[in-house]
Amino acid sequence: MNIKNVEILAYTVPLKEPVKAYAAGLMTGFGMVIVKITDENGNIGQGYTTMHSNQELAIARIIEDTFKPILLNNDSSLIEFLWKQMWKQTHYAGRGGPVSFAIAAVDAALWDLMGQRVKQPLWKLLGGYSSKVKVYAGNIDLNFSIEKILDNASRNIEQGYKAIKMRLGRETLKEDLQRVEAVRNHIGDSMELMADANEAWRVDQALKASNELANFNLTWLEEPITPDDYRGYAYLKNNGATPLASGENLHTLKEFQELFYYNGVDFPEPDYTTCGGFTPFMKIAKLAEAYNLPVMSHGAHDVHIQLLAACPNAAYMEVHAFGIEDYISNPLKIENGFGVASDLPGIGFEFDLGKLKQYKTN
Ligand SMILES: [Mg+2]
Repeated sequence: MNIKNVEILAYTVPLKEPVKAYAAGLMTGFGMVIVKITDENGNIGQGYTTMHSNQELAIARIIEDTFKPILLNNDSSLIEFLWKQMWKQTHYAGRGGPVSFAIAAVDAALWDLMGQRVKQPLWKLLGGYSSKVKVYAGNIDLNFSIEKILDNASRNIEQGYKAIKMRLGRETLKEDLQRVEAVRNHIGDSMELMADANEAWRVDQALKASNELANFNLTWLEEPITPDDYRGYAYLKNNGATPLASGENLHTLKEFQELFYYNGVDFPEPDYTTCGGFTPFMKIAKLAEAYNLPVMSHGAHDVHIQLLAACPNAAYMEVHAFGIEDYISNPLKIENGFGVASDLPGIGFEFDLGKLKQYKTN
């Protein structure tokens, strides 16, 4: 089925309240690019990627100028071929970075189109393992008071979560430890607790934090250091007392291969929106399986449920604060601590473009 039209829509979507993480700082909204691909029979596939605010136009432009000519009049079912053409055309200024975000939106739309055409949900098209994946609340709360964090944790428990993540990277480690202790005491020992430092520390600081956090039985410590210091991750994994998660800031399959090769992670956390789409996400998940590692996801939970439900090594899915639930037809359903993959075709939902129109930037 040849591709007849490619539409590229860019937005800045406001958050309900400003949130803060160490590396990104305070965030009031996020950028989003939706790609709509129509084939010659009128089937439509939709894909999207998100990024920090004010970067969506650059990513939309890569798709418009470089990828659209590759896609038009080509067979939409040759996803690996089209992915490789997009990679090759941008390799000089790409091999990661914004190009990976741009390819991701197109690749997602191609997979959704495939699912729409054969009328199958992606989690079954991609292999089909289990419709249920354990979820955790990926709170972004570095700027919140302890009281507000505890209130939010209570709300997460009411919503059915069995696992909660909080942010680290305050002025001192002592302050971080006090906040973790308060949350652990509040939620009890039966809830799982994760912590995300968003690259706040040097390796020596991270090692100290990893060992002191062991008192609070964290499932993992996420991104304690800069994401591309693979040897640093290996050092922390070998010498620290808390398991490590990382992956949202790795933008290629090769970067994950390096992290695994150095034995630098316990909980790999790829994000299809940042690593080039479903095509590399599934390769990363299978590479993790080959290394006897589980696979998680970061962000984009309404879509990642379809990918993780296809993976035998899926362990957790993050339900992220950059939510699109107000703008789609079928938001993620959570039952008893598990996300449930929809059996609707493709990614399982459509965007409400009318509702998003007010935030359009292109
Ligand atoms: Mg994170």
